Amino acid sequence: MSETPLLVARNIHKTYGRFVALAGVDMALARGERRALIGPNGAGKTTLVSVIGGQQPGGAGGTVLFDGRDISGATPQAIARLGIGRTFQISRTFRKLTVLENMLAALLGNGGGAFALSARRLRELRAPALAMLREVGLAEFAREPAEAISHGDRKRLEFGMVLATRPRLLLLDEPTAGMGLAERSALMEMMVRHIAERDITLLFVEHDIDIVFRFADVITVMARGKVFAEGTPAEIAADRAVQDIYLGARH
Ligand code: ATP
Repeated sequence: MSETPLLVARNIHKTYGRFVALAGVDMALARGERRALIGPNGAGKTTLVSVIGGQQPGGAGGTVLFDGRDISGATPQAIARLGIGRTFQISRTFRKLTVLENMLAALLGNGGGAFALSARRLRELRAPALAMLREVGLAEFAREPAEAISHGDRKRLEFGMVLATRPRLLLLDEPTAGMGLAERSALMEMMVRHIAERDITLLFVEHDIDIVFRFADVITVMARGKVFAEGTPAEIAADRAVQDIYLGARH
């Protein structure tokens, strides 16, 4: 791992009217690390991810540096082009398009700007699109409409689509939400394998503590718009204050 962090968030503030969603968050992600963001409902996790990804209308206070470059207030498109990919709590696939067409759309969007839509370009992208579907275990569903596959498979598709944009940092918001125990574990193992193979840095929001402790190198605990604690899984597990505010409430 290199010395300079890949991502630095400094003193991030976000308010909705009088409500303070983020009250001065500082966080730094080392290159290649897998960071989990946990905390009670409403702690500000999704808001923080949205600020980093540029999806906060009206922006936020503070500074976000990606690979040393100030991306605060940049558009989601510009941020994506720089190498930050994001998935959402609710899958954002094109439900009426087939699985293969969804993947083609992700690959077409890769070059930035408008889709360079031509029959030739589509033909060229067919093989890479099918290869990516194979990588995420969806090749057999290539011709199915995205709305016909299972929730878990849509999560795989969404992951494959973001992977196709070749991100250096991935922001995954509750990647395993709404899935059964065994399915969650298999999805997470698949994602982490691809992430490790490509040297991608990961920030993921997750409520399933078992998943967090198994897959995170470092855990940031948020509460009421602030970083409440940060440490390795062992450190966080041993932190009494964290147990009281978060883990205690669950066990
Ligand atoms: P969860 O685990 O439930 O997803 P979270 O930690 O991700 O929670 P956020 O979604 O970031 O929390 O929300 C933080 C707080 O900001 C919540 O109290 C939420 O109601 C509020 N909030 C989020 N978005 C908006 C908005 N657009 N307008 C007003 N309040 C908002």
